[in-house]
Amino acid sequence: MKVSSSTLDQQILYANVMNDVYPDEQGRFGPFGGRYIPETLVPALNRLEAGVKRYLHDPDFQAEYMAELHDWIGRPTALTYARTLSKRWGCEVWLKREDLAHTGAHKINNSIGQVLLARKLGAKRVIAETGAGQHGVASAAACARVGLPCTVYMGAVDMERQAPNVGRMKLLGATVTPVTSGDKTLRAAVDEALRDWVTDPNGTYYCLGSAIGPHPYPYLVREFQSIIGREAREQMLAKAGGLPDIAIACVGGGSNAIGLFHPFVKDAQVQLLGIEAGGTGTGLGQNAASLAYGKPGVLQGCYSMLLQDANGQIHETHSVSAGLDYPGVGPEHALLQAAGRVSYAGVEDDDALNALEECCASEGILPAVESSHALAGARRWARQNPGKKILIGLSGRGDKDMPTLQRTILLGKI
Ligand SMILES: *Cc1c(COP(=O)(O)O)cnc(C)c1O
Repeated sequence: MKVSSSTLDQQILYANVMNDVYPDEQGRFGPFGGRYIPETLVPALNRLEAGVKRYLHDPDFQAEYMAELHDWIGRPTALTYARTLSKRWGCEVWLKREDLAHTGAHKINNSIGQVLLARKLGAKRVIAETGAGQHGVASAAACARVGLPCTVYMGAVDMERQAPNVGRMKLLGATVTPVTSGDKTLRAAVDEALRDWVTDPNGTYYCLGSAIGPHPYPYLVREFQSIIGREAREQMLAKAGGLPDIAIACVGGGSNAIGLFHPFVKDAQVQLLGIEAGGTGTGLGQNAASLAYGKPGVLQGCYSMLLQDANGQIHETHSVSAGLDYPGVGPEHALLQAAGRVSYAGVEDDDALNALEECCASEGILPAVESSHALAGARRWARQNPGKKILIGLSGRGDKDMPTLQRTILLGKI
């Protein structure tokens, strides 16, 4: 039988993924990832990489990290059996409750880890970027906890859209610096943070908020977020009587999803499904589904799947959820898709908002609009696969989304 070369490539990638060989020494996840950066950033990233090698899996550092997860963040977060959703959808539905983590989402798992690492590396200040403000709030909180000053770069447009989070960051002691260059949103904020970092790579630590960017960030963030999947796997075995048939999470940059998925990758019988922001449709500019509709390219130091136009220019995105509204995605997801280990699908704005409403009324849980994409994807999958065990990553709580919900679901109701 003749095997086409693309199938053979995929089989090799699949075998490597199942043996957990990524990233390699160059920070590559198969063909993706790596480091596409100006010369000026090389010393800072080399220093960070050395620090990661030295401390990340050091038992003392891990003990310190685990203590903060337990005593300050409130981990392990609950695994909740969703009784009513299970009845309605005809499946066993389990929710991994990152909405219960301190500051209201999974972001804090990564922020506290990186800020502890910053202290180990002798940094005098921490900088971070934020889009919707969730990573900014988590980083500000982590810096206050550890005792390091924090500067958060935030696009001027986002500062207006997410005013309550700007206030939260300031209360937590951070300096919020508006970014008025470029698109004045998340992308510009990342660029500005990188620029700041270059000026003082020894004294400053850059705390990046998702599993994106140049090596070693995608790896570092995945390692910190994997606590989600490690806990969920144990909790499923203890409470649900076995592994799930499928684990489902929403994908923006991809940090909560890779955190949930990674500890299940070697369990070949567990299907993995990432849900991207399908926005209002499949056209360029109507969504933020980089894996579904993107092409490979380089953005912010990393080779991955990107939404770009015919000339390779990064294209504007749309999603009802600010946290999923990013034109790229982490390189490990690009690899997991190419290897055929994880599938990715889009959920549109309306469907996500509808699932949010159903979760509130059925389970007494107000999920983030981002997480509601995972819920809607799970609901769709459940209808085609009755009687299965579904694990859903509920990445955060929806209190921050009240202004969006007032304009949408609640419009005309009160
Ligand atoms: C930021 C955020 C996301 C998206 O980011 P990932 O890196 O893809 O996880 C999803 N859900 C919530 C609640 C968020 O705050």
